[in-house]
Amino acid sequence: MAYDPNNVFAKILRGEIPCNKVYEDEHALAFHDINPQTPTHILVVPKGAYVNWTDFSETASDAEIAGFVRAIATVAKQAGVAEDGYRVLSNAGVNANQEVAHLHAHIFAGRKLGRMVP
Ligand code: IMP
Repeated sequence: MAYDPNNVFAKILRGEIPCNKVYEDEHALAFHDINPQTPTHILVVPKGAYVNWTDFSETASDAEIAGFVRAIATVAKQAGVAEDGYRVLSNAGVNANQEVAHLHAHIFAGRKLGRMVP
């Protein structure tokens, strides 16, 4: 799937639309989800133009991949949810109902979460 530079997260990364930012570094940006499903619901996105795990794993540099993974853990720690626990989830593709075609990880936390079901 070709990357669409007009997706909403691309616009946030370019500063064309606002976000409630919680973290930013060289490789990643994190902001609160506009429609939170848990008391803490943060999205972490890589700064590069990647649709999903396929193009990310095949074309991103090792530094970008490591940076994205580290950002997720850093954000969880900074949000104060690392100790009590959180869930990282990433929808990829149609069957997973990926709405925004820019790779992202959800961090869900702030309450006891239900068991994972497909
Ligand atoms: P997906 O279904 O995994 O692609 O999740 C996309 C997420 O992006 C949803 O949880 C939306 O609520 C969230 N979202 C969509 N637009 C915005 C925005 O402008 N700011 C923050 N979150 C957004």
